[in-house]
Amino acid sequence: MKVLWLIISLINTSVSAQQKSISITIDDVPNTSKYEKDNFSATLLNVLDSLKIPFAIFINRSKITKNSFEDANKILLKKWIENDKSIVGNHTYSHSRYSEVGFDSFVKDIEQGEKLTKQYASLFNKNLEYLRFPYNDLGQDSTQHLQIRAFLESKNYLIAPFTIESSDWMFNYLYEYYLENKEYEKATAIGKQYVEKTIELV
Ligand SMILES: [Zn+2]
Repeated sequence: MKVLWLIISLINTSVSAQQKSISITIDDVPNTSKYEKDNFSATLLNVLDSLKIPFAIFINRSKITKNSFEDANKILLKKWIENDKSIVGNHTYSHSRYSEVGFDSFVKDIEQGEKLTKQYASLFNKNLEYLRFPYNDLGQDSTQHLQIRAFLESKNYLIAPFTIESSDWMFNYLYEYYLENKEYEKATAIGKQYVEKTIELV
């Protein structure tokens, strides 16, 4: 349970005088290296499922081939998409940085990223209608951004940037390091710091 907070990012904070709301979004799904380490148990998905809350997942399809368990990894991806609380988004195939690779290459990466995800989504009557740019990199400048925006609109994609940056990757790095070294108190302290930092930014 503790580890889970570290890989959850939060977006779409809308603040009014009385009320704040957040969306829970998870990038780089499926986490196939964690899946392998956890003896092919979908730990994070199981916890989210038990909480009965909606969440959005942004699929990084190259994760499927990051180790030699491709078939198992595909099953994991399918489970995430099948979950009735998940909203499915594309996070490109290879997690390229738009401003570096440019329009043509980035478009190819988006389309490569759609392949398996779209197929699974349709099995469960879901659409692939959100895109999260890797690194939240929306382009070098407004010209490059408008070019991709027009493409995404033509494909009925909505852009889903994250709005809270609490360096989850950095906390997670330390958190996993302590867990692997069985330094549980330190891991718990890092987890707590991450949650506090994130709440501070909401
Ligand atoms: Zn990412």
